[in-house]
Amino acid sequence: MKKLQGIAVSPGVAIGEALVMDTEGFRIPRRFVARDAVEEELERLHRAIDSAGAEIARNQQAVAFELGEQYAAIFEAHLRMLEGAKLRGELEEMIRDRHYSPEYAVSRTFRRYAELFEKLQAETFASKANDIRDIEKRLLRNLLGRRREGLSKLTSPVVVLAHNLTPSETANLNREFVRGFVTETGGPGSHTAVVAGALEIPAVLGTGPFLNEVSGGDLVIIDGDEGLVILHPDEETIARYQHEAEELRSLAIQLEELRDLPAETADGQRVVLLGNIEFPYEVDHCVARGADGVGLYRTEFLYLEAETEPDEEVHFEAYCRVVKAMQGKPVTIRTFDLGADKVPHLPEPEDERNPFLGLRSIRLALRNVPMFRRQLRAALRASAFGNLRIMFPLVSTLLELRQAKMVLADVVEDLEERKIEFDRNVAVGMMVEVPSACMMIEQFVGEVDFLSIGTNDLIQYTLAVDRSNKDVVGLYNAADPSVLRLIDMVLRAANQRSVPVNLCGQMSSNPLYTMLLLGLGLRRFSVTPSAIPEIKKVCRTVTIADCEEVTRRVMLMENARDIKNFLKGELKKRVPEIAP
Ligand code: PEP
Ligand code: MG
Repeated sequence: MKKLQGIAVSPGVAIGEALVMDTEGFRIPRRFVARDAVEEELERLHRAIDSAGAEIARNQQAVAFELGEQYAAIFEAHLRMLEGAKLRGELEEMIRDRHYSPEYAVSRTFRRYAELFEKLQAETFASKANDIRDIEKRLLRNLLGRRREGLSKLTSPVVVLAHNLTPSETANLNREFVRGFVTETGGPGSHTAVVAGALEIPAVLGTGPFLNEVSGGDLVIIDGDEGLVILHPDEETIARYQHEAEELRSLAIQLEELRDLPAETADGQRVVLLGNIEFPYEVDHCVARGADGVGLYRTEFLYLEAETEPDEEVHFEAYCRVVKAMQGKPVTIRTFDLGADKVPHLPEPEDERNPFLGLRSIRLALRNVPMFRRQLRAALRASAFGNLRIMFPLVSTLLELRQAKMVLADVVEDLEERKIEFDRNVAVGMMVEVPSACMMIEQFVGEVDFLSIGTNDLIQYTLAVDRSNKDVVGLYNAADPSVLRLIDMVLRAANQRSVPVNLCGQMSSNPLYTMLLLGLGLRRFSVTPSAIPEIKKVCRTVTIADCEEVTRRVMLMENARDIKNFLKGELKKRVPEIAP
């Protein structure tokens, strides 16, 4: 049994067979071959060894010619190993006697060799392990070739283990069979984490390297609450986690009873609980949990799922579906927030060294006005079918907001001229997720109908910490006093002017922060739909006076660790069943 600590990004427990994606996205299932297919599979192995050998020999010749014989020697060693009788014998034995598929035999054998060299520790041997992986990859490429299967073609439940998954790869995971996933890289605020929440499956990111230690088909436990991954669990651990999964199910059933009750504090203060969605199907999750509306629809996923830019009709249909399903409750369409870790099929900027500080989000929209207009037109047309609001992301200056509003006004005029129906009173708001917007909040509140605080980015830009980098996860903290002060500034300014203000970063989905945010004056939370019952439970248990006292004490504290510990204690006192 081996335990790995990663970053918990989506709660719950998953116990299942591993599906391993290596760094090149190869899927190596544990597969067996039928007795009468053994000879054919051995043939396939031999052909793969021969073509891998031919590739290495070609490389050897090219390098010898370009750089000299001494540099080509490395390929000579690769060839010797690949064509050696020992390796061939071992692989054949696995296929003939154990009926392993050639892919599985290759992955198991090479993993064992690599581990052996890694254990020897000396640097020369460690680099040998890399050589071995190189040969393995070459062989797998030859074996799998075009048969490389997509993650979408699954037929039985698995937990996916990968080096990295982009937000769009995550979005395309098969929702029927993928029970959870783990990646070696990735940070707490990454959009891969956000999508895990949308899929409602346990997920752990940023464990560091471990893929060499598992094979497809091994049993793995994912503890999405603690950020733990357990490889080869023993009987006792499996039983403990099965019990925990059972308890989580019964807590969920208990919380379901709150569905039709309002999110209201014990002293009668109404709180608005909205859902964050990435895909139209999630509107059903919102309805099922009794959400008061959709507080954030991350429309950029329409672009990430498609090969080419979605046309106006694709947008229109998606927005109509959501707006109609919410039956008059508000739906906030956030215009596309592409760039940084969400890259569609747009021409890439040439020199994007700091993608999170680069041509992202509203900046990208203002540079691609025709594309921006197509989306705005679709959103306005959909506004005729329900309660739709439009929100601009990552606004950092007043001029930017005004420019975006001008493009919108232009589209409005166009629709009016063409006598196309839409809601003339559509509310227009902005995300507050850059410190500059907080600093200028007094000016911004005068120019919008509503605000939404995006703490995922606000934490990143306030503390200068990449939200998707596991190596700086210690700094990425919603409880940092600097972040809390900025939220406080925004809430004060908005509440003073009675401009509705929402908080749609991941922070609002964490019950740890509910009392603090209520105490700061927040009354609108937009959360991952699966978090609605828990947040409602906290709201219905506490009083505003209680929350204000918690907040008063928090705002006297100087570091995130003390604040988190204090909040954990306060939550445990009041709602022990959901406290971490
Ligand atoms: C945020 O930044 O908090 C937010 C809600 O937007 P996103 O996570 O999509 O950047
Ligand atoms: Mg953001």
